Amino acid sequence: MRFEDIKLSKQLMNALKEQNITTPTAIQKKAIPKILAGKNIVGIAQTGTGKTLAYLIPILRDLKYSEDKMPRVVILVPTRELAIQVAEEAKKLCEYLSIRTLAVYGGTNMNTQKKAVHEGCDILVGTPGRLYDLAMTGILRLKSVKKLVVDECDEMLNLGFRPQLQRIFDLLPEKRQNLLFSATTSDDVSEIVDTFFGISEDVIAAPSGTPLEKIHQTAFKAENFNTKLNLLKHFIDTNPDLRAFIFVQSKRFADVLFEKLEVAYPEQFGVIHSNKSQNFRMRMVKEFKADQLKGIVATDLVSRGIDIDNVSHVVNFDLPGEKEQYIHRIGRTGRADQQGESISFVTSEEYNLFTGIQSFMDVKVEFSDFPEEVEISKQKIPEEMEPDIHDAPTIVNPNHIVGEGEKFEEKKKENKKVNLRPRDKVKRKKFKKRKRRK
Ligand code: AMP
Repeated sequence: MRFEDIKLSKQLMNALKEQNITTPTAIQKKAIPKILAGKNIVGIAQTGTGKTLAYLIPILRDLKYSEDKMPRVVILVPTRELAIQVAEEAKKLCEYLSIRTLAVYGGTNMNTQKKAVHEGCDILVGTPGRLYDLAMTGILRLKSVKKLVVDECDEMLNLGFRPQLQRIFDLLPEKRQNLLFSATTSDDVSEIVDTFFGISEDVIAAPSGTPLEKIHQTAFKAENFNTKLNLLKHFIDTNPDLRAFIFVQSKRFADVLFEKLEVAYPEQFGVIHSNKSQNFRMRMVKEFKADQLKGIVATDLVSRGIDIDNVSHVVNFDLPGEKEQYIHRIGRTGRADQQGESISFVTSEEYNLFTGIQSFMDVKVEFSDFPEEVEISKQKIPEEMEPDIHDAPTIVNPNHIVGEGEKFEEKKKENKKVNLRPRDKVKRKKFKKRKRRK
């Protein structure tokens, strides 16, 4: 697909040209024709892949001037920063069109935003909480909405916006086109799609921010935390210009690793995970950007919303459970036309997972020889000790408590019925009920 092939207006083409946007990115090539064909789509794409224009271009191609003051396109985003950014991109594209864009988000004066909504817009970008509040005042009416975009859906769910999303969906006309974008797929994202998006959605995969061929990937076999730590210290000591993102499996391990690094390299590393306050996280990012930190220890969940692009090394201290997440992690390095370095520490338990990741990305990663000067530890830390089997709670099957005879048979039948119904059907049914009540 080329931009020339999709009959964009002169005004839109000029706006693109002015931004030096001439060739569509991978996600744009895949998404734009489907959006133009009126399909509901699910786009798997991260920031930096051109996902915003992947939905804005086709939306704007078909959005004509209207006297209607209420929005015909709603774009839901997780954060105020993204709301501003998306609205700015839309405004740049609308440079020569008479299409009005408005961004609404929390933390700002409600009355000013009410006034702006009242004045009218064609495209409304907003965070779910504020957008819903505005709808509740009666000033914002959503009955004219023809297209809904849910951007960074996974992040939105991570931030706990599920209830607000549902309330907004309930206010929208049933007949609309739905476009959902998410950096990763998850059960929660699928649940939103199954419950609210009807049947005709297409899944589109796009490569991560940095093309894989620009990332040099290596791996080392390391059986436990202490050995991995020794290896990490070796990399820190042998790379004076290191600026690393170090990924670990959990908050607990992030704290443990950070404490060890703090002892060895005082005030040279940071840590980011969801138990840390927003202010703390922002300070870490600021210090990293200002070259005051050599690296940040992070869990997958929070790292996603962080915009840091001059990372020299991504260290997979532990492998992620999801293959897509690995690609997302290593895509943080090698930005701005530089070669990136990704190093994975792999235990024998993680070996199969690592093979799966390699087939998923269709790239073979060679194991490097374990450096002779690095000590292999035999000692596990308490956090990685396997739980003592004798301490495990006894699991009691509730059916057995119900007992023998009729009651038990009844319960068994009931459970069978529930189990036979696919999860998504149950949810869709619930949703329909809610709709009917209104
Ligand atoms: P996004 O993934 O939407 O955050 O976009 C990242 C950046 O890529 C934005 O600054 C866009 O202006 C830019 N961009 C989007 N599409 C293209 C394209 N086809 N060619 C060049 N730059 C683009």
